[in-house]
Amino acid sequence: MEKKIDAYNNILELIGNTPLIKLNTITKEIPGDFYAKVEAFNPGHSTKDRIALHILEEAERAGILKPGDTIIETTSGNTGFSIAMVSIIKGYECVLAVSSKSSKDKIDMLRSMGAKVFVCPAHVSADDPRSYYQVAKRMHEEIKGSVYINQYFNELNINAHFVTTGPEIWEQTKGQITHLVACSGTGGTISGTAKFLKEQNPNIRILGVDAFGSVLKKYHETREFDSNEIYPYRIEGLGKNLIPTATDFDMIDKFTKVSDEESAHTAREISKTEGIFVGYTSGAAMQAVKQLAAEGEFDENSKVVVIFPDHGSRYMSKIYCDHWMNEQGFYDSKHSEAAQKIEY
Ligand code: PMP
Repeated sequence: MEKKIDAYNNILELIGNTPLIKLNTITKEIPGDFYAKVEAFNPGHSTKDRIALHILEEAERAGILKPGDTIIETTSGNTGFSIAMVSIIKGYECVLAVSSKSSKDKIDMLRSMGAKVFVCPAHVSADDPRSYYQVAKRMHEEIKGSVYINQYFNELNINAHFVTTGPEIWEQTKGQITHLVACSGTGGTISGTAKFLKEQNPNIRILGVDAFGSVLKKYHETREFDSNEIYPYRIEGLGKNLIPTATDFDMIDKFTKVSDEESAHTAREISKTEGIFVGYTSGAAMQAVKQLAAEGEFDENSKVVVIFPDHGSRYMSKIYCDHWMNEQGFYDSKHSEAAQKIEY
């Protein structure tokens, strides 16, 4: 009799069920136990695999999609990669409208995954017909049977985390989680995960992470959009200059803002101390933990889950490049030891 080969049917079966890894060194001085939910273990190396799979499978269930149809989105980041990956296996065309600000590496990576990439001018307003929003919208209208993911305004983004990330964390912590710390970009991760966790235990503290230069924290506190909060910053995927409907602000107890500089150093510190090679926003989340600890958020009974959204390999020419760090002015007197090591 033939023995059954122990193999996955395709790469999509590996999405989700990411590990929770105890942090042992970086949190040594902070009371409580800290665990990272390491989303780089998804096959597309980020948390966005979850929403790409969920949104496309919901569209299939609703009868909206059939093989050969086209998926459209406006991102050069993790979501683009995940949609491209899911589209390959499910037989869809993947069309991504990206900003000309996107690095050549990112565009090449998406094309390597079979995506059709339209590069649109970065410095035009969102309602300009040349902007990537308008290009995506137009293609969606013109291409019959196309689906526009529109992650910032898609309820299914929240739902993807309500049905996967939330239950996984509850199960992995055996219901003992006291705090969740998560970055907010579209807000899908924090909102969906929090919704599930709060249904199990409304006392779990949900702590959002925002960037200086983004409107989310102020909006959470005042429910008013304050354009004075907006200015350029470097962390990609964190914060926003608009209010996404994929963020359920009522689920979040508090937002903490973090800086580009401290987040970059903290990401490097996680890699060096825990051996987990993380992306920029993982550094942002951990930086928020440090700031929250200084405010007395945690005690010895705290069991804190911190979401690490993606992998460090996507940031080799940024936070893991000493030259880039130096160019940003991120080596000051505080980090002078690192600065001295640069040889150029
Ligand atoms: N980190 C990274 C690297 C991301 O790409 C994103 C998504 N924009 C986030 C964090 C935030 O996740 P969410 O969009 O679910 O709020």
